[in-house]
Amino acid sequence: MIEIINQQKKFFQTNQTKSYTFRRMQLIKLRDAMIAYEDQLKEALFEDLHKSSFESYTTEIGFTLHSIRHTLKHLHKWMKPKKKKTPIFMLGSKSYVMSEPYGQTLIIGPYNYPIQLVLEPLVGAIAAGNTVIIKPSEFTKATEKVLVDLISSTFDPSYIKIMTGDYKVTASLLEHKFDYIFFTGSTKVGQIVYEQASKHLTPVTLELGGKSPTIIDETADLKKAAASISFGKFLNAGQTCIAPDYIYVHKNVHDQFLELLKKAIDKQYTKIDDMGYIVNDRHFHRLQNLISLDKVVYGNSSNEHKRFISPTILDRVTWHDNVMKEEIFGPILPILVYEELDELIDLLKTKEKPLALYLFTKQKAVIKKVFNQLSFGGGAVNDTIMHVSNPYIPFGGVGTSGIGSYHGQTSFNIFSHQKSYIKSTTLFKMTLGYPPYSDKKEKLVKKVLK
Ligand code: NAD
Repeated sequence: MIEIINQQKKFFQTNQTKSYTFRRMQLIKLRDAMIAYEDQLKEALFEDLHKSSFESYTTEIGFTLHSIRHTLKHLHKWMKPKKKKTPIFMLGSKSYVMSEPYGQTLIIGPYNYPIQLVLEPLVGAIAAGNTVIIKPSEFTKATEKVLVDLISSTFDPSYIKIMTGDYKVTASLLEHKFDYIFFTGSTKVGQIVYEQASKHLTPVTLELGGKSPTIIDETADLKKAAASISFGKFLNAGQTCIAPDYIYVHKNVHDQFLELLKKAIDKQYTKIDDMGYIVNDRHFHRLQNLISLDKVVYGNSSNEHKRFISPTILDRVTWHDNVMKEEIFGPILPILVYEELDELIDLLKTKEKPLALYLFTKQKAVIKKVFNQLSFGGGAVNDTIMHVSNPYIPFGGVGTSGIGSYHGQTSFNIFSHQKSYIKSTTLFKMTLGYPPYSDKKEKLVKKVLK
C-alpha cells in the first residue's frame, strides 16, 4: 500500500496531472473505457444487485458519461484563474483565485450505486488534476472486479489505482496521509473517516445518508405524487440514498393517495426483472425486521434465496415502529398522516437534517414555509430524486447527512484548493499602512475602511 501511495506522490510531483491537455485526455480515456466495458458493467450490476440494464445505464453508466461530457465542455473555463474585485485601499493591486489540485486523493464508495459513486467523484478528481486511489465497496464483488479491469487497463497505477478488500483495507488506507478524501456511505462510517482524516487535517467531502421525508399536502396532484414516489422509492429496490424514506400525507387525502400509490406501483412494476434485489443476507434480514405485519397494506412478498422483497407499503405508521428508527434503504415505504403543517414542521425540526426532502403541493406559501424552515441537503417540489441528475446544481447533505457537495463544477471545485493571490504594481507603492504610525494616518485609514 505504501509503495503505491509513494509512487502516486512522486507522479504528482512531476506536474503532469496539471495541464489541461492531460486532464482532458484522461477524461476521454475514462469515457472510452466505460463505453467499451458497458456490457460487462451491466452484467456485473445484474449479478450483484439484479439491477436492470435500463437502470444500470440511466443511474450509473449513462449518468457518469453525461458528467464526463459536461466536464469536457467546461473544463477549460473552470481551470482559468478568475479575476476578482479589489477594494480601493489596495490601489495598484489586482486580485485572482486559481484552482490548484490538492495532490493525492482517496475516493471511498458504497455498494448501492457501486459504479456511479466512485466514477462520478473520479471525474471531478481528474478534472481538478489529482492522483487518485479508489476503494469501491466490498459488497458488490462482480462490479468490483469489472471496475478493477476497467481502471487498471486504462490508467497507470501511479496516477489512478483501485484497491480492493474489506473494510480493513479502507481502515488502513485511512491511516495514511492523503491531500483530500471523498467518502460516500453511512453516517456511522462517515464519522470514522472524518476522525481519521482529522489526524492529518485532510479536507473531506462526506456524502452520507439518513431518513428523507416526503410531504403531501391537501392540494397536491396525488396521481403525479404517487407515480413519482413509486419511481423514487423502489428504484434499485429502495437502496438509494435520496429515496423518499417515509411519507407524511395530509389526513384528508390519505385514502385517495394510498389507492393511487398502489395503482402506480402496479403499473410500474409489471416485470419482475425491473426490480432490484437486496445486496446481501444481512440487509435482507435487517429489512424483514422493519416490517410490522399489522401495518402492511400492500406487497410484502419476498424470496430469501434471491434476496428479493416486493414493494411494500406500511400504513398508519408512527415513530414507535421499527421502520422509523433507522434509515430504511430498502423497498419498504411507511406512511404517516398529519393534520397541521406547522406541527409537522416542528416535529421534523427535532429530527436529524436529512439528505433530501420532497414536497407535493400546489401552494406557493407552503413551498416557501417548508423550504425556509427545514434544513436538508437538497430536494424537489412535486418530484422525487431528480435533483441529483442536474450537473448545474450541487448535490450533498447537511448535518448528519453529509459535509460538502459535488457534481458538475462543484466536483471540480471541491477537488481543487482555491488559491487566492494579488499582483501588485511596481510603478508605485501604497505605504499608508506601514509604520511609523501617526494620528494623521489613522484618521485617513478610518475614512477608507469604515
Ligand atoms: P458503508 O458506510 O457501510 O460503507 C461504505 C464504505 O466504507 C465501503 O467501501 C466500506 O469498505 C467502508 N467501510 C465500512 N466500514 C468501515 C470501517 N469500519 N472503517 C473504514 N471503512 C469502512 O455504506 P454502505 O452500506 O455501502 O452504503 C449505504 C449507506 O451509504 C447509506 O447510509 C446511504 O444513505 C449512504 N449513501 C449516501 C449517498 C450520498 O450521496 N449521500 C449515496 C449512496 C449511499
